[in-house]
Amino acid sequence: MAAKSNGKLFIISAPSGAGKTTLCREALKRFKDITYSISYTTRKPRNGEQDGIDYYFITKEKFKRKIENNKWAEWAEVYGNFYGTSAEFLDTSLASGKHILLDIDVQGAIQIKNRYPDSVTIFIVPPSLETLRARLESRGTDTRQVIERRLEAAKKEMGEKNLYRHVIINDQLSRAVYELIEIIKSYR
Ligand code: 5GP
Repeated sequence: MAAKSNGKLFIISAPSGAGKTTLCREALKRFKDITYSISYTTRKPRNGEQDGIDYYFITKEKFKRKIENNKWAEWAEVYGNFYGTSAEFLDTSLASGKHILLDIDVQGAIQIKNRYPDSVTIFIVPPSLETLRARLESRGTDTRQVIERRLEAAKKEMGEKNLYRHVIINDQLSRAVYELIEIIKSYR
């Protein structure tokens, strides 16, 4: 059973390349009292990513042990890697009244929503699949095969956006940031 909470949980999901990282960063700059939930992952760090800032990078063995010991508030396998959110971190933060921002995929969002029904769910949509492809290619961090896989996943995820309370179309960054800030403000 999840702890009774005072803090608010904001869940942001998006196909990769939709501009979610930038939007999350802008929201965190604007709201100093919102804490970013650092996920755990078994994937390798990308260039410039730091352990304990972008993710906690852990081994598959460690991740699986935490599944067995019920340490995850949610977890999912995405593109062959595991990603998870610490239950202890969420429960202690919320119980102490902290607001939390989660950047997780659709599978994770559904699990969090079941466990914490008051969570605010926000989905970021890229303007088009062509734009998404262009963004993923210009990022230069993924192989062609990974990009194709991410685009396939994006198509599927786009169909799941109706599960979210709020949908933001990121066709123009400044407007998308404004919308995100207004949504968060309305809950505080
Ligand atoms: P990336 O590898 O590009 O950082 O993330 C891939 C996907 O995993 C993104 O859709 C991201 O939102 C999702 N993700 C990141 N952390 C978590 C997590 O803790 N749980 C779940 N379920 N998904 C996550």
